[in-house]
Amino acid sequence: MNLRTPGPTPIPNDIMETMMNPMIDHRGPEFASMLPRITDNLKTLFLTDNEVLVLTASGSGGLEAAIVNLLSPGEKVLAVSIGSFGDRFGRIAEVYGAEVIWLRKEWGLPVLADEVGSYIDQNPEITSVLITHNETSTGVTNPLQEIAKEVKNRNKLLIVDAVSSLGALPCPVDDWDLDVVVTGSQKGWMVPPGLTMISMSERAWRANATAKMPVAYFDLARASEAAKRGQTPWTPALPLFYALNKALELMIDEGLESIHARHQRVADKVRTEVMAAGLSLFPKDELYCSNTVTAVNALDNMDIAEFRSEIRSAGVIFAGGQGKLSGSIFRIGHLGYIPDSEIDEALQVLRKFFK
Ligand SMILES: *Cc1c(COP(=O)(O)O)cnc(C)c1O
Repeated sequence: MNLRTPGPTPIPNDIMETMMNPMIDHRGPEFASMLPRITDNLKTLFLTDNEVLVLTASGSGGLEAAIVNLLSPGEKVLAVSIGSFGDRFGRIAEVYGAEVIWLRKEWGLPVLADEVGSYIDQNPEITSVLITHNETSTGVTNPLQEIAKEVKNRNKLLIVDAVSSLGALPCPVDDWDLDVVVTGSQKGWMVPPGLTMISMSERAWRANATAKMPVAYFDLARASEAAKRGQTPWTPALPLFYALNKALELMIDEGLESIHARHQRVADKVRTEVMAAGLSLFPKDELYCSNTVTAVNALDNMDIAEFRSEIRSAGVIFAGGQGKLSGSIFRIGHLGYIPDSEIDEALQVLRKFFK
């Protein structure tokens, strides 16, 4: 099957094979030598000197970890949402008792830097901003660099969901001064679902020291202590760590610029083919179209479920729409391992369907 969903994404064979390796003692020397290699390589790919931690959880677990380690109940937080993942992030903060102020945009649009800036000015008591870099549900990438400038000019903590961007789209953590950045193994990293990686700035650690939300499994201070001994607080998902270790080596060999260029080129090709098939893009402004996932409008009278099942019988899997978009869009994932042969095959099946 040609899996073209925006996560999980296909895994190259040499990464798959590492997961067959025998189990090791996660308190022993092999793990203790592997973990620092993983975190060093992650720092290289996050473009940061900040500490990066790896937790056994899906991306949402990483988002929850960011919330509970940084915030306190009753704290005022700005949640910027342009789709269903933005809603999820703010919702987690609400569940743990933060007082969430929402900046919601119509789905299909990005949020612009001056909107975020003026929202903060209207609500100066907020301490932190939650934002999605790449909104996987709508196929829109927010202009994070400009947004980060507005947030930092106002001296607020910036917490970023980069689950479907980091490793595939430019997101230089130190250059853009991002305090907390969360990503997930099954998106741009060519690793199965189950690991989340989080970077923490000095400022984020200071917020962590006074944060009062309840935290146990996701305790980042504890993860940081354990990492100094080459360990994790709890049993790590070892096969996924083997896979991540290998994937990071491959990514470092390829180089970030070439990875980003590859995603740009494939995304351009997908968008061109989609439009050539007589379809239209869901994002309302082409400038902000995501280079990791393309969201496509259904044609009038088109049954998305039936379309997806026909495409599937030709060997290609596209994702449907999430939440209120189910039935009105479908999505093509192109992140992580995206060989031209697989993308071309998927586009050929798409073209045939609309001929
Ligand atoms: C996939 C994704 C998540 C996390 O999803 P999990 O299913 O928990 O891994 C969060 N945010 C975005 C933008 C995503 O694409």
